[in-house]
Amino acid sequence: MITGACHCGAVSYQFDHTPSKTTSCNCSVCRRLGALWIYAKIPKITINGATDSYAWGDKSLAFHRCKVCGCTTHWENLQPEGPDSYMAVNLRLADPAVVATIPVRHFDGADSWTFLD
Ligand SMILES: [Zn+2]
Repeated sequence: MITGACHCGAVSYQFDHTPSKTTSCNCSVCRRLGALWIYAKIPKITINGATDSYAWGDKSLAFHRCKVCGCTTHWENLQPEGPDSYMAVNLRLADPAVVATIPVRHFDGADSWTFLD
């Protein structure tokens, strides 16, 4: 179980999975957000609190942020295909001691759609 919260504490998450990696993506949105994503199937993730969201392009994903402090909290799949669909939370919102234990992999979401390492 990994927990995280935005700066003001209005939004928090529970991530009921042990990630083998966290993903740093260089696509046009992720490189600006600076998020580290950890992924799990939708039933493994609980989000508490009110968020605003942003979707672009083909609007397959919505990126969520705290309405109060603006921290990026998670993304959701806008066309989920049942409980086997994935979503992700921003590991940056977890305890730094937890973040330090999870290897970062760099994903080339801007171009080749493969991991660069
Ligand atoms: Zn907040």
